[in-house]
Amino acid sequence: MVREQIEARGVRDPAVLAAMRAVPRHKFVPERYLDQAYADHPLPIGYGQTISQPYIVALMTEALKVKPGDKVLEIGTGSGYQAAVLAEMGVEVYTVEIIPELARSAEERLRELGYTNVRVLNADGYNGWPEHAPYDAIIVTAAPDHLPQPLVEQLKPGGRLVIPIGPPGSVQTLWLFVKREDGELDAFNMGAVRFVPLVRER
Ligand code: SAH
Repeated sequence: MVREQIEARGVRDPAVLAAMRAVPRHKFVPERYLDQAYADHPLPIGYGQTISQPYIVALMTEALKVKPGDKVLEIGTGSGYQAAVLAEMGVEVYTVEIIPELARSAEERLRELGYTNVRVLNADGYNGWPEHAPYDAIIVTAAPDHLPQPLVEQLKPGGRLVIPIGPPGSVQTLWLFVKREDGELDAFNMGAVRFVPLVRER
């Protein structure tokens, strides 16, 4: 998976490649998709949600440029796979999931696999997780139609935010935002992606 789908497409950060090799992706997919656990596409995880394509996980993780000890916020825990990849890199992961059942099962799975540096919250991630802010990096794995201001506010100066933005049910643009010391954002277009929509709590 790592050699053919990830390195071959240009992801080169050794820490990211090592983390992708270390996390047992088959523990994060439903039993009936076990034979496809390392295949080059997203997979259903129930509740209309998906575990992302391995390449996209690697691409987004590389863009965050995290180092051990960093504090990282993830919005959209899903299976917990992306959180586990970040945890393997030695960062402190705070991850928010809006569907209670997914939050609970991801938390259990991560605990069973021994990832003690991940904390899961069941809430609407549009609002981030203010109690632990500010974060060195923020990764959003569901697509809103605009950049949520609370996430910008919870990012440290110098911090990096990776997020798909666009209309639901369509192709979105993956953006990397880098917060300057003066608080302004520099934006980099990372290409077209397709994520499930970021839904709002009502
Ligand atoms: N990162 C996940 C895949 C994400 S799928 C993995 O590695 O498996 C997107 C997830 O975002 C879904 O689980 C969905 O329920 C969740 N989600 C959607 N809107 C959300 C919101 N407002 N806050 C938090 N999570 C949300």
